[in-house]
Amino acid sequence: MNLDKNITEIKGIGPSVGGKLSTLGIVTIADLISYYPRRYDDYSNLQKTSSIKPGNAVTIKVTVKQAVGRYVRRGMHITEAVASDDSGSIRLVWFNQPYRANSIKPSHTYFVSGNFELSRGRLAILNPSMELESSFPVNTARIVPIYKETKGLKSTVIRKALSLLISEIKMLPETLPSQVVTDVGLMSRAKAVQTMHFPESMEELAEAKRRLGFEELFGITLASLLNKQQYEQDTGVNIPFNEKTAKKFVSALPYKLTDAQRKTTWQIYGDLHAEKPMNRLVEGDVGSGKTVVAVMSAVMAMEAGFQVTLMAPTEVLARQHATTVHELLSYIGLESEVTLLVGSMKPQQKRTAHARIKNGDARMIIGTHALITERVDLHNLGLVIIDEQHRFGVDQRKKLQAKAGIMPHVLSMTATPIPRTLALTLYGELDISILDELPPGRNPVMTEIVSPNSRKQMYEKIEAELTAGRQAFVVCPLIQESEVLNVISAEKVYEELSKKVFKHRKVALLHGKMKPEAKDSVMEMFVAGEIEILVATTVVEVGVNVPNATIMLIEGAERFGLAQAHQLRGRVGRGSHQGYCYLVMSDSKEPSRRLKALQNNNDGFKLAELDLEIRGPGAIYGKDQSGQLDLRIANLTDAVLISSARNSASMFIHNGLKLNKYPELKIAVQKYRAVTNLN
Ligand code: ADP
Ligand code: MG
Repeated sequence: MNLDKNITEIKGIGPSVGGKLSTLGIVTIADLISYYPRRYDDYSNLQKTSSIKPGNAVTIKVTVKQAVGRYVRRGMHITEAVASDDSGSIRLVWFNQPYRANSIKPSHTYFVSGNFELSRGRLAILNPSMELESSFPVNTARIVPIYKETKGLKSTVIRKALSLLISEIKMLPETLPSQVVTDVGLMSRAKAVQTMHFPESMEELAEAKRRLGFEELFGITLASLLNKQQYEQDTGVNIPFNEKTAKKFVSALPYKLTDAQRKTTWQIYGDLHAEKPMNRLVEGDVGSGKTVVAVMSAVMAMEAGFQVTLMAPTEVLARQHATTVHELLSYIGLESEVTLLVGSMKPQQKRTAHARIKNGDARMIIGTHALITERVDLHNLGLVIIDEQHRFGVDQRKKLQAKAGIMPHVLSMTATPIPRTLALTLYGELDISILDELPPGRNPVMTEIVSPNSRKQMYEKIEAELTAGRQAFVVCPLIQESEVLNVISAEKVYEELSKKVFKHRKVALLHGKMKPEAKDSVMEMFVAGEIEILVATTVVEVGVNVPNATIMLIEGAERFGLAQAHQLRGRVGRGSHQGYCYLVMSDSKEPSRRLKALQNNNDGFKLAELDLEIRGPGAIYGKDQSGQLDLRIANLTDAVLISSARNSASMFIHNGLKLNKYPELKIAVQKYRAVTNLN
């Protein structure tokens, strides 16, 4: 059967079920076959009614009698029945399934599966599934797959549809090279898919998941290796190392570079000088000093006559970068070559910026997405620096590079460390430098989880810090109060703090919906120390540098991802004063594992690993991109399987195998290449 056929062409699936399946994204037979269960209930172990224990999922083989339905109170219907085998009898109860009583055939044998539990003081199997005894039960007496359901479409229907396809599934062709299947010791594809939907044992199921997970990881790593291969064929612009300039810049800095900064810069200089374009990611925890590394790279390119772009995820950050970069470049007299280009600039300013970019007077261009979305005529672009790299989509990066007409060097910087496993799979084509050292004299931020009823003590500590001349951030999950979510908002907190708790202090509000000029002026006042408490949303998340701020209060802390909260915390303790972070919970429940991890851990790498484990790749890699990756089975924390997939992918390339021979793999790899390609 052609797997691209519409599911309604399967005998037994009508237009109504077909319509419902399509709301789950299942249109073709192939879609249905790869619609894997989200979990399994193990009903494979057939028990006697006399031996079943409460609190367990059980399966019995029984005859059923005395099925009666009745309404117990308005709207609530109960069906009760007695099920018997040769060892005894047991009660079955269904809620609000009035059709049950009539559908049970006396003197037939059924498989009945469900949870054996207490209900209103009496034990019963609650809402059991039931089907006539057969050698191929679908909903009972097996490891029963539970699918993601939709309105009016239960797992039972999906199981039935799949049971109609069993012979097609058994004939699914192998998608991986046979050598790989043998070397790695994998189940065949057909067997794996069959097992996902009709597992015979939990062990077999684990093997099936290993096989399908491997296939995904193999596709991803192969894609990233192919990207790397292609990338290495491009010729880049040669930016020679100019020792005099490097020395002059370093000696003009008001501080000594850390060893990590020195090493990373050295690696970058090596890349810039090579034939092929640089493709390097600098990972460094918040405050590790990435900006100066970026500027030292830029200086080399500028000196060689090339243009450099520095893109930041927000205008606030782009403007701040412009100020910092301007100052750093002034050490070697290049400050006049900096220009800012952001969406909110006045038309006249923008025109000037555009002209200076076009004629090459501006060799260091700092901006946001405006650099990509607006018409910008670049002049001899040699280096693209992307700050907080995970914030940019792949397409955006591609567009920027397309503009250059050539393949410029690309330097990405991120404070969200990428766990090793993820780096190996998704970022295999990147060279990575790690700034694993903070500039001297920084104390780790002291972090405390605060339950809502200890606010008073917390405010007292904040008051003391403010009195000592420090400043505070208060970050909230939302701008406005929401009726749906019971979540604290920036506006409400602002009211509370500015009118009551801290009415004698200068409190301001900053959020993403404010006009850019308003945002800037608030930010400027905060930087200048004219605002003492800044109540904000996560617009302050990345990069903002206010060394005098020592307090980061995070409201509704349990709503933030680990990486994000760690970023926020990195906004304080950047100067010589001790930083404090208060993680205020929405309720007085036991703090989550995530919050505790944050409290006890200042290491961004460890937190990223944990985030990956707890919340999956979306937490780190960005929702959109990890969504596009569409990993159904693979676990991105499975280092063993990842490294085996990576070895196989290297062998595939090394042995000169051609993707054309593996059509399904080819499609997957093409998809992954588009997602993982940072170029
Ligand atoms: P991030 O890595 O988070 O982008 P920044 O580049 O903003 O960090 O640097 C944080 C602060 O550390 C800045 O105020 C910067 O001037 C300072 N800094 C950077 N490198 C050093 C160093 N080697 N010694 C002392 N201070 C440094
Ligand atoms: Mg930064």
